[in-house]
Amino acid sequence: MNENTYGRLTEKVKRAQQLMREFEEIQFDWHAWPGMYPLVYFCDDGDALCAHCAKHPDFVLDIVSVDPHLEGPAIQCDHCGRWIESAYGDPDDETEE
Ligand SMILES: [Zn+2]
Repeated sequence: MNENTYGRLTEKVKRAQQLMREFEEIQFDWHAWPGMYPLVYFCDDGDALCAHCAKHPDFVLDIVSVDPHLEGPAIQCDHCGRWIESAYGDPDDETEE
């Protein structure tokens, strides 16, 4: 018996659609919990990404580390340019009180 599958979804398409729905539901965290420390997503090539860009399909598989940014100068997202401030600021920055 050959079942006519034209006009229907194959199991592979259904599976891919399900995985994409699950992927879209996942929101990467901007801050660590507990502590609310800003999070930086680091790629295997050393690039730093914000939570938004880290979830991009082009980058998500490159992420090797998610680190809280505790102290020091702000880190710029290498994709969108957004600045990720450190939790305690930059101790070398004289303009900050
Ligand atoms: Zn970004």
